[in-house]
Amino acid sequence: MLGCRVFGSRNALLSRGSTARPAAPRRSDLMAPADRQDSSDQRENPDRIEPTLMAEPTDSAEANEPTDDRIESDVERVREPVSDRMRALSQPLRPRTSRGPACSRVNPVDPVWALRQIAFQLERSGAPTYRVRAFRRAAEVTSALPAGELSRRIADGSLQALAGIGPATAEVITQAVAGQDPEYLNKLLGGAEPAPASAMRDALHGDCHTHSTWSDGGSSPAEMAEAARDLGHEWIALTDHSPRLTVANGLSMERLLEQLELIGQLNVELAPFRILTGIEVDILEDGSLDQRQDLLARLDVVVASVHSKLRMPGREMTRRMITAVSNPHVDVLGHCTGRMIAGRGRPESEFDPERVFGACIEHGVAVEINCRPERQDPPDRLLRIAAEMGCLFSIDTDAHAPGQLDWIGSGCLRAEAMGIEPDRVINTRGADAVSARAF
Ligand SMILES: [Zn+2]
Ligand SMILES: [Zn+2]
Repeated sequence: MLGCRVFGSRNALLSRGSTARPAAPRRSDLMAPADRQDSSDQRENPDRIEPTLMAEPTDSAEANEPTDDRIESDVERVREPVSDRMRALSQPLRPRTSRGPACSRVNPVDPVWALRQIAFQLERSGAPTYRVRAFRRAAEVTSALPAGELSRRIADGSLQALAGIGPATAEVITQAVAGQDPEYLNKLLGGAEPAPASAMRDALHGDCHTHSTWSDGGSSPAEMAEAARDLGHEWIALTDHSPRLTVANGLSMERLLEQLELIGQLNVELAPFRILTGIEVDILEDGSLDQRQDLLARLDVVVASVHSKLRMPGREMTRRMITAVSNPHVDVLGHCTGRMIAGRGRPESEFDPERVFGACIEHGVAVEINCRPERQDPPDRLLRIAAEMGCLFSIDTDAHAPGQLDWIGSGCLRAEAMGIEPDRVINTRGADAVSARAF
């Protein structure tokens, strides 16, 4: 029997109906053992596979942003007691294709599924992408093996001779193939905090702001989409960076066109799930946008964000942001203050919120509630102003890895706390409505 198991989903499912309101995401503590992926040898670090405590928060997957935009990761503390959740959560959620990140035989434990679940759980706990990569790489290597080879290699002890498989990942694979719950996964699940439940979360159908390996994300568009589907979404907008953000591998016009072709193919394979085409376009200093207008016009979702000159005087920043949201192709104003509340931190950009949010209302642009733990942007003070002014909102994860898609619950709680109703949140709409800007 085939089935799929995604603990983020299950966490969400488990938490539905719960009245508990978990605290906002906190600095974390969980760090993965890094399987080394350098060019000399794609083996993992032979560190023990125990999750360990981090002394300092580490750079997140978005660490390639310009220097003053570097963000520090803030991750959830793991503290729930180990339980039978492994078993309780191992029921298939829905029929799946063979491609999903969480697809597996239910019994015995599928090693590819186990490796991907470890990656997912590490990502949602805030572990930086490079520390998770070894598990995703090992899952790829394992899933590509011809039938019978995995068992043969385990039997003759040659598993670690495969590039991309080292002691930690080999142990997970071996335990899974033996029908045991991998020890490392059990530990992660035992400490995993359920995603916060809310009526707003139940009302959401998608996520307007996500990244893939096409810019500075850690997973492919297909992996991001499959994880979103397993979390219960009907669609996501893939919004990789625009050309000017070269350190984040921003997409040139040519690469964006290539990506549109890929998304067309994936949407055939993934239907009825849909990847909306999109971009997170840089707002340049004069308020113009960092991509051709005719290309922006072709995209389903355009998130416009400031990534440079964040400390320009308030009057200029106000003008810059108003110019950007006045562009008819912009759907969402991304992380409006640019603040960072973890690590070294970064102050909010200064601008006149009444004027900027007023322009958003005038032009039908949604103000993003960015769910990244280190951003939580806009801050409460500005979110309250936007809510009272009657803005539209978009609750977005800005996920750079599949597990980060599960951060959406924190933004839902913030919106509810401000009295924002689901009908003012654009990702409660279906894919067609978002694409058509029928907010
Ligand atoms: Zn951004
Ligand atoms: Zn982003």
